[in-house]
Amino acid sequence: MHRLLPLLLVLLLPACQPANEAATAVFPQGTIVDMSHAFNDETIYWPTAPGFDKNTDFEGVTDAGFWYTAYTVTTAEHGGTHLDAPIHFSEGKHAADEIPLERLMGSAVVVDVTEQAAANRDHLISIDDIMAHEHKHGAIPQGSILLFRTGFGKYWPDREAYMGTAERGQDAVALLHFPGIDPEAAQWLVDNRSIKAVGIDTPSIDYGQTVLFESHQILFGQNIPAFENVANLDQLPATGAHVIALPMKIEGGSGGPLRMVGVVP
Ligand SMILES: [Zn+2]
Repeated sequence: MHRLLPLLLVLLLPACQPANEAATAVFPQGTIVDMSHAFNDETIYWPTAPGFDKNTDFEGVTDAGFWYTAYTVTTAEHGGTHLDAPIHFSEGKHAADEIPLERLMGSAVVVDVTEQAAANRDHLISIDDIMAHEHKHGAIPQGSILLFRTGFGKYWPDREAYMGTAERGQDAVALLHFPGIDPEAAQWLVDNRSIKAVGIDTPSIDYGQTVLFESHQILFGQNIPAFENVANLDQLPATGAHVIALPMKIEGGSGGPLRMVGVVP
């Protein structure tokens, strides 16, 4: 190599940076937090959905003498830690495979409503709750992934404590009691803040007693996806963490199993 070439590269590098910004973005440093619950026999699904099913195709030593395991898994899209794609409640909006990856990774803001949710398991996360957070931690920055910590994650996988009922089937839906986002707050967010996605440590971004799933409708109408049954939200600070939430890439899917990771500086 010509002895001036390295110097030339160094001089040229800054000029290249704007074009390559996305590709060369520095990976955030910090402690990694697993924000997904494991999929197993106890994984919580909506009362009307069958649970997670893992069937053994083979497990053991083969006739040829080597160890081999393989399973067939069956799952509803909306169970365990999962993505809600906008098309779930909004016609023509993004399906699971169509959500831009930039929306699924970024800096996280955690709004803590554990006190309100402990006092009332039907708590609707309000504009006031968001205001109280902003008063303490500053306005939610543009492009944030907005996570709501209700504290209900600690009940996992106790169905009754977590979602209000351990019963299954259509009749159990009316027995659901867990906190969620007030549709007024969802509308306020759409009108006043620019967020990439929302997440919550309950089975749904709308509270258990909802009938119309209005917060789903409002947010998904703006192509803002949601992460539900998020784990370990208590390990993230109010601001400063990054999250990466990558769902299974189901073509045309309304959601899907989600591996979510937090990076806490
Ligand atoms: Zn869902």
